[in-house]
Amino acid sequence: VAKRNGGNSFAVFEPHMGSDASEQLELQSDLRNAIQRQQMSLHYQPKIDGERGSIIGVEALLRWTHPERGMIAPDIFIPLAERFGIIINLGNWVIEEACRQLAEWRGMGLQMRVAINLSVHQLRESGLAERITQTLQRHNVQASQLLCEITESVAMEDTQATQRTFEELRDIGVYLSIDDFGTGYSSLNYLRQLPAQQLKIDRSFIRDLETEEDARAVVHAVVHLAHALGLRVVAEGVETAAQRDILLNMHCDELQGYFYAKPMPADRLLAWAKGDKQDDQADFSTSILGG
Ligand code: C2E
Ligand code: MG
Ligand code: MG
Ligand code: MG
Repeated sequence: VAKRNGGNSFAVFEPHMGSDASEQLELQSDLRNAIQRQQMSLHYQPKIDGERGSIIGVEALLRWTHPERGMIAPDIFIPLAERFGIIINLGNWVIEEACRQLAEWRGMGLQMRVAINLSVHQLRESGLAERITQTLQRHNVQASQLLCEITESVAMEDTQATQRTFEELRDIGVYLSIDDFGTGYSSLNYLRQLPAQQLKIDRSFIRDLETEEDARAVVHAVVHLAHALGLRVVAEGVETAAQRDILLNMHCDELQGYFYAKPMPADRLLAWAKGDKQDDQADFSTSILGG
């Protein structure tokens, strides 16, 4: 069914993978057992400070290494986990692992902010903030070192349950980021009231920056909007030097994308952050700081 391509790449699937009933059942039981079988891991992608050109934090991205199918992308298994009712367990594992990693890196002299992605199911359940607080305390990590990314469509879901969770997360001191901004339907009035510190512009706008006047106009406007609301703005999916230059000219605060680095396992991230960037296309000492 799947081919392994090695490295950081994902298994290739048949177009209708997971659609047939017996395959669904098999995947479901595989997914239920994946944590216990230690098949889940977090990869980390650097976020680069626009002014200083140095790493400011990382985004944790979940990876499932299936024994037969190889590495399965989160776009495939997260929706399945949500449908099968195991996203809460999976999300809790991510919180635990991210906090454990933060503590481990701190012991090695690497201090950063780690972003995790939250599913709407985690926000609707009560007790998320309490669980995060307990996990942070157990690993002796500051709340301000953890950032929660919530997609725009979910952030705009103005229900009592999600509202309460946003407020609780703010109260315990973790940072909030609105992910994939520009793909949903934001109410500007609601956005103004959200306890977020960061807006993350969706990759689709960054991709078209060089060629589409429209995309440039939207990104420019979003940067201004974010700054007017006192938010930091992040560009995701930066792949070229030209995109980087446009974003820096617009005073985008943080940049993230393959141009700098792909998501990578924790040990490689540590080496990368310490200056061993040979595996990646970018080299800050020449490309950002200019010499
Ligand atoms: P996202 O949070 O918007 O993450 C950005 C995605 O874009 C990641 O895909 C990342 O690997 C990819 N990316 C980063 N830079 C570039 C670039 O320059 N070019 C291109 N083409 N892609 C780039 P990934 O890792 O496959 O994750 C996909 C989505 O899965 C994430 O989108 C997020 O919504 C979800 N996800 C990942 N980990 C978790 C998790 O732990 N929990 C939940 N609930 N969702 C997760
Ligand atoms: Mg994200
Ligand atoms: Mg995103
Ligand atoms: Mg996205």
